[in-house]
Amino acid sequence: GVSVVLFTSDLRLHDNPVLAAALRSAPRVVPLFVVDTGIAAAGFAVPNRAAFLADCLAALDEGLRARGGALVVRRGDVVAETCRVAAGTGAGEVHVAAGVSGYALRREERLRSALAADGRLLRVHDAVVTAVPPGTVLPAGKDHYAVFTPYFRRWSAEPLRAVLPPPRAVLLPEALLSEVRTEPLPAASSLARGTASPALPRGGEGEGRRRLAAWRRGGLVRYAERHDDLAGDATSRLSPYLHFGCLSPVELAAGARERAGGGCAGAEAFARQLAWRDFHHQMLAARPDAAHRDYRTRHDRWREAPGELAAWRAGRTGYPVVDAAMRQLAHEGWMHNRARLIAASFLTKTLYLDWRAGARHFLDLLVDGDVADNQLNWQWVAGTGSDTRPHRVLSPTAQAERFDPDGAYVRRWVPELAGVPGRAVHRPWLLPDEERERRGYPAPVVGLEEALERFKRARGRA
Ligand code: FAD
Repeated sequence: GVSVVLFTSDLRLHDNPVLAAALRSAPRVVPLFVVDTGIAAAGFAVPNRAAFLADCLAALDEGLRARGGALVVRRGDVVAETCRVAAGTGAGEVHVAAGVSGYALRREERLRSALAADGRLLRVHDAVVTAVPPGTVLPAGKDHYAVFTPYFRRWSAEPLRAVLPPPRAVLLPEALLSEVRTEPLPAASSLARGTASPALPRGGEGEGRRRLAAWRRGGLVRYAERHDDLAGDATSRLSPYLHFGCLSPVELAAGARERAGGGCAGAEAFARQLAWRDFHHQMLAARPDAAHRDYRTRHDRWREAPGELAAWRAGRTGYPVVDAAMRQLAHEGWMHNRARLIAASFLTKTLYLDWRAGARHFLDLLVDGDVADNQLNWQWVAGTGSDTRPHRVLSPTAQAERFDPDGAYVRRWVPELAGVPGRAVHRPWLLPDEERERRGYPAPVVGLEEALERFKRARGRA
């Protein structure tokens, strides 16, 4: 017998239940990746993630070849191509990871019925894309948790499935090469149009595992104290590897829990962040329209200010920490979590612009850009999502002084202000006019007090 493994957000050989189940069900498997034209049509194929994805596919193919297999690559509609490959190889089953986005759920449904029409089975596997599958822990009488803290309590007590070793061999069906046309491994330029950010991380399982090992030996221990320090850059930077599934969330969560059990506070804090990831996934799985529509409170009267939105995107708002954040995003395709909070709060609460415009810009650039994590974090910050204090406003100067106390993060990303010493860098509007002009750094797009008054009026809290 033969089965097909359709790789999606699980581009790895370690701890991959989809691949493991396929190998259990049939001696020969077809490892398949479809460059899905539907994803490009949905505007989700962007240069930064395309570059990372090309690395991931090359690494996956290399790993499969070392085990006697190879990655079969096709391009087109994911359902049509998968059915064609299954038919061409006589596969009885197709294995795939359970997804959470509306797109992934529709793909699953379409696959199931198209395969069934041919007498084939779709097998969908849980705990691949998240550590705890959506729907596993539930509040009484509800289909998902809307508040993080009670979710986290349950998540922490929920047993994780066992971590699986990578397979020793992955053997292709003999008919494969003659029956199934495979495309060459895609180059980034064939996956999306446009130029990638100059300082992207390299993708792939091997790279992810090296970073994970270094993180466990190094930064993890001090993560609890240091994760909010903007200049310290003391977080794992594993998010793109989790997004593409180069690393397994189950493996990471199990490792973190074990270390936390041994008294490591850093590991406990890290496990909590992994739970946030699962939390957003279970919300989106239950409410797919939360990707576009306010999750909770409706706020339809956002301001329209194209000039301010453009200044925010370009990193020229006149608020140094916001501008530093936006420039880090453009340069690295990644942004520190604290910087994401500050930049998103500035757009939605200080400028009072629609969170969807900000979320779109993030998705255009983030190498870890993820529908669940991005859209629902944006909603959380905008006060339309699961934040239990939707009226709180982060002041960019207070945040900067707290999380970038001597201004090193700002000076790294805003060269116009590089020579301004200490925390004066956070209030460039206090510099003498002539110095400000010489530096070519913009004046603030809006005054903070005025903005706060506007926010309170808009939310009926004046
Ligand atoms: P670490 O601090 O090392 O955390 C470890 C892992 O936990 C991360 O890799 C990530 O998978 C997970 N995690 C941490 N914080 C969160 C969180 N708040 N929500 C969900 N998962 C979390 N994360 C994405 O992966 N993709 C996104 O598109 C994304 N968009 C965001 C948009 C906004 C407005 C905000 C405020 C946050 C967003 N995040 C997103 C969450 C978080 O900022 C990133 O996961 C984190 O900065 C990645 O860096 P790291 O791997 O060094 O994180």
